[in-house]
Amino acid sequence: MTESLASALPDFDTFGVSGVSGVAEPHRAHALSQSVLADSGPGAMPVIAPPGENHITLQRGILRNGTWHRDAEVRELTGRDEEAIAAAGDGGLKAFETLVTRGVVRVGPEPMTRLLAGELLIGDRELLVLAVRRATFGDAVEFRNLPCPNCGEEIDLVFPLDHIPVVELEDPEQLEFKVPLRKGATAVVRLPDGDDQAHVLNLRDRNAIKADTEMLSRCILRITQADGSPRAGGVDPGDLPMADRHTILRFLNATQPGPRYQDCAFTHDTCGGEVPLPLTVATLFRGL
Ligand SMILES: [Zn+2]
Repeated sequence: MTESLASALPDFDTFGVSGVSGVAEPHRAHALSQSVLADSGPGAMPVIAPPGENHITLQRGILRNGTWHRDAEVRELTGRDEEAIAAAGDGGLKAFETLVTRGVVRVGPEPMTRLLAGELLIGDRELLVLAVRRATFGDAVEFRNLPCPNCGEEIDLVFPLDHIPVVELEDPEQLEFKVPLRKGATAVVRLPDGDDQAHVLNLRDRNAIKADTEMLSRCILRITQADGSPRAGGVDPGDLPMADRHTILRFLNATQPGPRYQDCAFTHDTCGGEVPLPLTVATLFRGL
């Protein structure tokens, strides 16, 4: 089920809707996290200044004239941004892209544009959106009356965004990856970017399988057989053995850097059980 790339795409279906359980009060959460940050007593060792507020480091970034640029700057969203995102209206990719193009000031030396947004890895886009969220609502998300699935008690919780698991690239400059397939074959793939995501989400008559096929056809660069020769039949993903398709999709999902909202959980003190958090981009921007 998690092999479908479609399921990994941002889900804005609940964007701006208050039907999800758990109430976010980002402003208060922000104040709480600030009070923690302020606690550096007298005589504290000097610390290396963190990159300025609203600055983040991307996983891959962009390559310009032989130099990789990974520093990015975001800004706090305003009412005008809120209107623009609402006007994008589809509660999906357009809203997400409006968020990226408006909330991100620049990547490296380049001002954010739709073109640039399409060039970024999906994971870098997600990191940027998370940074825009911090700039706009603060560093934590607050849940109230979150029912514990283990003991039933309702929990109030301030969850720091730092606790969201983030997958990092082992080598940010590696653009091609080898994925071992059955019978000694190897697929050489690249990771999906914003353009791939837009292309797949805009497919006519899209369903999860069709979306996966389209994503594979864009991201598989070549396939070689055990003896090193190109696969007979080429790289048509519709023609690939089902097991190999799943292997490649799993790899693309696992390797794509960025936040993993679906892996967010905490331990409930009362019962010792693990409680999954209903975190999505939509939840994080509930205030919009
Ligand atoms: Zn519990």
